[in-house]
Amino acid sequence: MATSVKKTKSVWFCSHCGNEYSKWMGRCPACGEWNTMVEKEVVAGGLRITDPACDLAVICAVLSSTFDYPIPADVCFAGEVGLSALFK
Ligand SMILES: [Zn+2]
Repeated sequence: MATSVKKTKSVWFCSHCGNEYSKWMGRCPACGEWNTMVEKEVVAGGLRITDPACDLAVICAVLSSTFDYPIPADVCFAGEVGLSALFK
């Protein structure tokens, strides 16, 4: 495996309005809704990839997290995606 994650941190998103906060709050300051904070783990400081075949897996992981669409545990990704979105 040729990836390394520098550091992860938790952020909190309001599931009602989508605003992001660095800590949990009982009430969202933006929309005023109670108990709508959802914790998410994010990569702080970027991600270093030395093997181009990991590109597709990282892209799928980011999309999975963004859209809350889980990737089944028995699925494997191997592929290189260029800057022009060319898939190899
Ligand atoms: Zn909110």
